[in-house]
Formats: sequence, structure tokens, C-alpha cells
Amino acid sequence: MTLHQNLIAGEWVGGDGVANINPSDTNDVIGEYARASAEDAKAAIAAAKAAFPGWSRSGILERHAILRKTADEILARKDELGRLLSREEGKTLAEGIGETVRAGQIFDFFAGEALRLAGEVIPSVRPNIGVEITREPVGVVGIITPWNFPIAIPAWKIAPALCYGNTIVFKPAELVPGCSWAIVDILVRAGLPKGVLNLVMGKGSVVGQAMLDSPDIQAITFTGSTGTGKRVALASVEHNRKYQLEMGGKNPFVVLDDADLGVAVEAAVNSAFFSTGQRCTASSRVIVTEGIHDRFVQAMGERMKGLVIDDALKAGTHIGPVVDQSQLKQDTDYIAIGKQEGAKLAFGGELLKRDTPGFYLQPALFTEATNQMRISQEEIFGPVASVIRVKDYDEALSVANDTPFGLSSGIATTSLKHATHFKRNAEAGMVMVNLPTAGVDFHVPFGGRKGSSHGSREQGRYAAEFYTTVKTAYTLA
Ligand code: ADP
Repeated sequence: MTLHQNLIAGEWVGGDGVANINPSDTNDVIGEYARASAEDAKAAIAAAKAAFPGWSRSGILERHAILRKTADEILARKDELGRLLSREEGKTLAEGIGETVRAGQIFDFFAGEALRLAGEVIPSVRPNIGVEITREPVGVVGIITPWNFPIAIPAWKIAPALCYGNTIVFKPAELVPGCSWAIVDILVRAGLPKGVLNLVMGKGSVVGQAMLDSPDIQAITFTGSTGTGKRVALASVEHNRKYQLEMGGKNPFVVLDDADLGVAVEAAVNSAFFSTGQRCTASSRVIVTEGIHDRFVQAMGERMKGLVIDDALKAGTHIGPVVDQSQLKQDTDYIAIGKQEGAKLAFGGELLKRDTPGFYLQPALFTEATNQMRISQEEIFGPVASVIRVKDYDEALSVANDTPFGLSSGIATTSLKHATHFKRNAEAGMVMVNLPTAGVDFHVPFGGRKGSSHGSREQGRYAAEFYTTVKTAYTLA
């Protein structure tokens, strides 16, 4: 079996391999992926530091060409890479290919941004002095990514980091090294100079921690759990470095009496269960006003009966397996907690057997839940959602905002008044009207509020805020 190695200072290195397992079929080993040590991480950081002076002064046409070539190759190989993604993470092939296309589009977008770098020239308040405001790269950027978007999240961090002239130490999640290895390989062959991008696959507690502890990383961008996010924050304060965190969500989806029932059900099922509920923008709290409640719950049950849960790579599968055994345990533990708390398990929640050994769980919908229950307050990160019944719009909004998180917030309504009010008053970074809480564009800002996020937004032009530092220069004429 091929060993996929780490990339340090332009060389593929590393011995011990760890098997990358398919969650749809645990007998299927995708490949061996080297596991980096803390020493490897230090070497990678040193390589990125050494490469920074050269790359930070590289021409915009060189950056454009490398990002553009990368985009072209990802898009040309979308079926193969999408398949790899679905095989290692468990989302369906359609979702895997869709995510791969998005990664290609992100590289394409930042290839364009490299050509649009600009500053401002402003007159000084003092006579005969000119002021120039420019953006410069930050330095060595540490990129730490989670398992749930194995190609899109690495893409939306790597592409802007390179576009604005930073060098990188990249640590993907242990469960899904395949797509990360593939995009690093593509970037290297697209002509990236040695040391500009370093890949260190391995354990968070070893490789990730070595990155947090290094004084030579000027910025860390992290997506993952709230607990690890806090560690990133504390270590970054210690080293006076820039940091950006995308963490959990407990996103509400409000359904009002005046909603189009079909639109509401489709958006709720998508938000709660697609990608096996393993999206930080997934909705696990469906807040429904009493006039539509019973009809909505019944229609959800009907819709859920039609969902095919099976091998992610099989044609016709709507929902693939849970990513691994420990996530499956977390999901079933929360189903048990919901029952103990007095919510009613209205549909699903059973472990499923399929042709191959995998982590199959029937999507679960609780009703009669309250917003105080643990299943309504804590992130589950699986295909488990609860319906909370409320009196009217005002109560719905108040319940929607009653959470420590604030990533995405959705509403199904035909009322312009309520839609407008909700857009203004939802305490979330992203608001969706008559759309699922998950599923965002690649060219506009992504991020949340409250306990979900910290720092400036990711994606689109707003990414420049994190990956650059502003300089103000004064010149006597
Ligand atoms: P998840 O529950 O999504 O796996 P984690 O926060 O554990 O969330 O993982 C997100 C990323 O953070 C992964 O790449 C993981 O390896 C990394 N990570 C975990 N622990 C640490 C740590 N102590 N320092 C730095 N990175 C870590």
C-alpha cells in the first residue's frame, strides 16, 4: 500500500504510516498516511520561516498562476477527488464532488484576488506629506483543520494564505488526510517554491500542540471543537499572535405558521441530516410555531421515511455513515440523553446494518423538546435534531437566540415582515430565509458570533483581513 508522506521544506518525508479507513466499509483501507512528530512540526515551521522572505516578495503573476493551475487540476479531477473525499469522510458522492468543485472555485477566486491586491493613497492632514496604506502578508500561518470538510476547509485557508504572500504549516485532521495530501501534491506540482507550504499530518496533541507552542508562527487559523479552539486562543495570546477560530454551532431553524410547508420540510431535513448532520452549520433545533407544528412534524416523518442511508459511494444514497465509532457513540449517547430528559423520539435513531461494516445511524428527530434540554444546548454533530414547539414569532426568535453559539440561523416564512425582522435580530453570523442553515457560497464571508467564532471572517474578499497586516507609510514630498 502506498505511503503518503509529509512535506517539509519541499521534500516528501516520514516513516510510520497510519491506515485511512472508509467509514462506509471499515474493511476498506484507503491508504497509509505518515504521522509527523513534534520534531517534524518544528522542522516544518523552520522551513516556512525560511521561505517567507522569498514568497512574501513573489510576483502576483506567479501566485496567480500557481493558484489558477491548482484550481484547474482540482476541477479536472473532481470525480476522482470527490470519490476520495466520500470514501474517507462518509458524505455522499454527490456531496463529495460538490465539495471538491467548491475547493476548485475557491482556488480560482483567490487566483483572481492575487491580481487585485491594492492599497490606498490618502493626503496627510499635514501639508506636503502623502500617506500610503498597504496590506502585507502576516508571516508563517498555521492551518489546523477538522474532518468534516476534508477539502473545502483546507482550500479556504490555504488559498488566501498563499494569495496574500504567507507561508504555511498545515495540519489536517487525523481522520481525513487523503484530500489534504492530494491538494498539497497538486500545489507542489503547480510550482510552489520549496518550504512555502508544509504538510504535517498527525495527532492534534502532538503536531497541533507543537504549532501552538511555536513563537515562529505569526497567525493560526483553526476550525474544530470549542475545547481545542480555547487552547489555540490561549496559546496565541501567550505568543501575541493573530488567531481565527471557527468552532461549534447549535443552529436554530424557525418554522412559522405562514411557512410554505414543502419549503420548510425540505430545508429542515437538509439542515439537520444532510452530510450526516456533520456540518457546523447544521440545524439541530427546529423551532416551530403551534399553528403548523403537527402538520410539520407529520410531514417531516414522511420525508424521513424516504431517506436512503447507506454506503456513501452507492448511487441513490442520501445520507452516508457517521465518520467513526467515537462520533457514533456521541450521537447515540445524546439520543439516550434526549429520552432521559423527556423528549419524545418521534422518528429514527436506530443503528442500521448494511452490506458492509460501517457506522450507520438512522437520522433521529425528537419532538416535545425544550430549549433547556442538553440536546438543545450542546452540539451533537450528528443526524440528531429536535423540534421545539413555541407560541409565536416572538417566542421563536427568543428561543433561536437562546444559545451560547451564533454561527447560522434559519427561518421558513412567507411574511416579509418576519423575514426582515429575523435577518436583523438573529444573533448569528449567517442568516438564511427559506433556505437550509447549511450550504454557503464560496465568494462571500463565512463565520459566526458568540461562542461559535473568534476573529475576522473567512472566505471572499473579507479573508484579506486575517491573512494580511496593514501598513501606513508617510512620505515627505
Ligand atoms: P473534532 O471534534 O472536530 O475532531 P478537534 O478540535 O479535536 O475537533 O480537532 C480539530 C483539529 O484540531 C484537528 O486537526 C485536531 O487534530 C486538532 N487538534 C486537536 N487537539 C489539538 C491541540 N491540543 N493542539 C492543536 N491542535 C489540536
